[in-house]
Amino acid sequence: MTTSTRTWAEPYKIKMVEPLKMTTEDERRAAIAEAGYNTFLLKSEDVYIDLLTDSGCGAMSDRQWAGMMLGDEAYAGSANFYRMRDTIESYYSYKYTVPTHQGRGAENILSQILISDGDYVPGNMYFTTTRLHQELAGASFVDVIIDEAHDPASTHPFKGNVDLAKLDALVAEVGAEKIPYICIATCVNMAGGQPISMSNLRALRAWCDRTDTLLVHDMTRVAENAYFIQQREEGYADKTVREIVHELCALTDAATMSSKKDALVNIGGFLAMNDPDIYEKACNLVVVYEGLHTYGGMAGRDMEALAIGITESVQDDHISARVGQVEYLGNRLMEMGVPIVQPIGGHAIYLDAKAILPHIPQDQFPAQALAAALYIDAGVRVMERGVVSAGRDKDTGENFMPKLELVRLTLPRRVYTQAHMDVVAESVQRVMQGAADIRGLKFTYEPDCLRFFRAHFAPVDG
Ligand SMILES: *Cc1c(COP(=O)(O)O)cnc(C)c1O
Repeated sequence: MTTSTRTWAEPYKIKMVEPLKMTTEDERRAAIAEAGYNTFLLKSEDVYIDLLTDSGCGAMSDRQWAGMMLGDEAYAGSANFYRMRDTIESYYSYKYTVPTHQGRGAENILSQILISDGDYVPGNMYFTTTRLHQELAGASFVDVIIDEAHDPASTHPFKGNVDLAKLDALVAEVGAEKIPYICIATCVNMAGGQPISMSNLRALRAWCDRTDTLLVHDMTRVAENAYFIQQREEGYADKTVREIVHELCALTDAATMSSKKDALVNIGGFLAMNDPDIYEKACNLVVVYEGLHTYGGMAGRDMEALAIGITESVQDDHISARVGQVEYLGNRLMEMGVPIVQPIGGHAIYLDAKAILPHIPQDQFPAQALAAALYIDAGVRVMERGVVSAGRDKDTGENFMPKLELVRLTLPRRVYTQAHMDVVAESVQRVMQGAADIRGLKFTYEPDCLRFFRAHFAPVDG
């Protein structure tokens, strides 16, 4: 063991535990078959270590739980809203905040305000709900991330960067007036939790100023991105994560946030911006879809927990332990020879399913099949991030065939121990040793949109 595995020891201790049910392999085989080989359809109580997502399943601190008792459950003008709004302005720089029930609520409102039919929205790789809301509002998503992001073996330190030449090419093709905004995610989820550099974001800011285009920030994982900038980008080693987070946000015009990730709460989100006209429109729309503009689908107590969560999420000790645990698991897997996306991302490890299951063609969903096999082995629940998640082209009806066919092992914040990480690594190793016996899958039920959530599968030839 290298000394670096001990640089991230947890800056907290455990005060309450949640006992877990242990299952047998036969029970797990039955459970995954009943779930149609879709890990989203498993019952949580049948799962031992749940690495499905880092969304809404983190552990709140005792301070946050204490904050829950300070809920001002007024319909309008709750004290917790103002505390949340002031915290967002102070930590993230945005002047105006509209709460939403979660990130996609903010995406819906922003897309409706900014997009006209026939527009194009460039982004550093798509995210499922983000792209769908852009499409529902009449736009087409255009991927402008650097090529390295699509190569699981590239060790580029900032695989979330935008290729400005791709933006210029898009403008030449469709005209700048067809591009209402650019949507930039920090620590790009679909690229494997990979950061964008401050210098790239600064160049993008200049590009947007030149072309009079808005820059929108999907800030779901902004703290993890800031940590990587501190570790990797010249000139940032002595800055705090809090300072870097503020600097990142201040380069953008508006933000959508899923507070269920970096901000350490179980539910919530917001739309934030500096433009009073956009704010006015957002206030009028939020009452239609979410709730009044001072609660937008959140209880007062949830807004209080979020305000506290934001302050905890940018503490250097917290974020280095959080990303350190992900790196611990990733490094163990690499030592075992498991092919994973590199560099190791901020919130998850991504297994390269095409490399692990070369005998399964992509239209038989190798990542989906690998996810099911991992559940059967040790009760670890993970998620497909490949052709099933990518969905179908709305014009041709064909499957999008992403270059990356991945299985995501996502770590909830402050929830599992190092022993749990060892169980996971050893299970992946065992499944890989038996990979030749894993069969591909076919759809038995395919929903129209966001199909990965509720699709059913069966093994091919049997
Ligand atoms: C989770 C997520 C969203 C959507 O947020 P929800 O709270 O799940 O609606 C948007 N963008 C990214 C990058 C996410 O990870």
